[in-house]
Amino acid sequence: MKQVFEDILTRNAEPEPPAFAPLLEECAFLLDIDGTLLELAPTPSEVEVPVGLDRVLSTLHDRTDGALALVSGRSLGDIDQIFAPMRLPIVGGHGAEMRLSVDSEAVAVHAPPMDKNLKRRFAAIADLSPGILLEDKGYSLALHYRLAPTFERTIYEAVSAIRADLPEAPVDVLPGKAVCEIKHSGFTKATGVIELMKHEPFVGRRPIFIGDDVTDESVFAIMPGMQGLAFSVGRQAQGVDGHFASPREVRAWLASLARDDDDI
Ligand SMILES: [Mg+2]
Repeated sequence: MKQVFEDILTRNAEPEPPAFAPLLEECAFLLDIDGTLLELAPTPSEVEVPVGLDRVLSTLHDRTDGALALVSGRSLGDIDQIFAPMRLPIVGGHGAEMRLSVDSEAVAVHAPPMDKNLKRRFAAIADLSPGILLEDKGYSLALHYRLAPTFERTIYEAVSAIRADLPEAPVDVLPGKAVCEIKHSGFTKATGVIELMKHEPFVGRRPIFIGDDVTDESVFAIMPGMQGLAFSVGRQAQGVDGHFASPREVRAWLASLARDDDDI
């Protein structure tokens, strides 16, 4: 395994999809959902789980003794709904929530909820256009504008105006793909992953993280220090060990590791 990772790491100059098969008993899979496992949809509720993906994820989960987790900005409840009836370990809400194993209860990870008044002010930005979809994720607020792309600049200007008005407010603004997300500061996908990796069955394993968006960059950055590997999707992000062209490529790779050659 060590040699395999060293081989990959020396190929940093030209990132490419992983042409290797990690030893499943030594690694942990950490997988973003939207834009990584699943194609993006016009609205977050419209994403579709391709036939066969649940079987591949279940197989890899079993063959890593449970060390496969979804790492997402979505809430745990939302993720469970998408993949029902399957349940997996999860880092949700950008690190605000966590479930260590299929059977365990969800645990909150030192994540304070957003101030209600602050939330209300950011939420009002959605009134700018019926095409702006407001999603209250509890720990964060997301303004989706895939249906109103011309409002991007207006949305960010409105967010900046609120922040300028309340410079002490402990909030982070997370720009994503046709989404502007606002959350309480102090936790990220990276802090969630660091916490997750302290627990069985993840502890001591080499993490392999795959993600596509700006919020995944915090996790890309911590992979070298964890002797892990980072892969981006749809673009070659900075500091990654390789990248996939599309979620379909990610699924095909995972399927090959699960010894399932079906293209899903
Ligand atoms: Mg994503």
